Amino acid sequence: MRSMANGTVWFVGAGPGDPDLVTVKGRDLIARAGAILFAGSLVNEAATRWAPPGCLIADSKDMTLEQMSAWLIANAARCDTVVRLQTGDPALYGALIELVQPLDAAGVPVAVVPGVSSAMASAAAAVESFTLPEVTQTTIFTRVEGRTPMPDGEDLAALAAHRTTLCIFLSITLLHKVESGLRAAGWAEDAPMLVVHKASWPGEERIVRGTLATIKQQCRDAGIVSQAMVIASPTLGARQWPELARSKLYDPNFTHRFRKATT
Ligand code: SAH
Repeated sequence: MRSMANGTVWFVGAGPGDPDLVTVKGRDLIARAGAILFAGSLVNEAATRWAPPGCLIADSKDMTLEQMSAWLIANAARCDTVVRLQTGDPALYGALIELVQPLDAAGVPVAVVPGVSSAMASAAAAVESFTLPEVTQTTIFTRVEGRTPMPDGEDLAALAAHRTTLCIFLSITLLHKVESGLRAAGWAEDAPMLVVHKASWPGEERIVRGTLATIKQQCRDAGIVSQAMVIASPTLGARQWPELARSKLYDPNFTHRFRKATT
């Protein structure tokens, strides 16, 4: 059934927690929204901080997907701008497509505004780079199997065999599986690991640095059981390395589009 929709549903990335990390475009949409459906306490503040008076604001925490899409469709029929606020970036672990399909079926226009993923906020918190010349040039966003099964070929042991940076979402309570995956791929017991809890949240962010051998106990001791990014990477701690291969981009012997080599 096609609705009488006249509004657009905007899926807006709310960023990792700090409301200042909502994009300018996202904030402008919130400021002119007639209705905002936000995903739990994570993005509550952004929703309420900039929403105009009279904006209908609802938390999707206790809604099913069907209730959420019905809410979005009903409000798109009544307002120009409907915002669905999602944590981090909507393209990562956010049920984006499950919500877009019923909107498409109802003829409601949809658009997406990207957000700062918690993976990027975690790197920023710890002053780490996911890529370094001659160390790794690849980053994998993944998780370990919880209630959502991992597709064939994507178990952590297979992915970790590439020796790239691994940003492991949704897995802080499954660190035993993270450890066994890395061990199965041959990572050393002293391989550096990083856990960032509530990256970017003012006053609440916590950074735990350890190794494959120690990280689980350190997180347990710190009481970190939710909202945490687990990062394993051969680049971790590079800030302290005495020898760093230089990026070719800044190498004086390397000519690129914007600069002539000086030697
Ligand atoms: N779309 C989101 C991810 C949603 S899945 C994004 O792009 O960030 C939820 C998982 O994201 C959590 O289990 C945790 O692993 C991670 N996460 C979300 N917010 C976080 C934060 N502020 N700090 C660290 N990890 C966070």
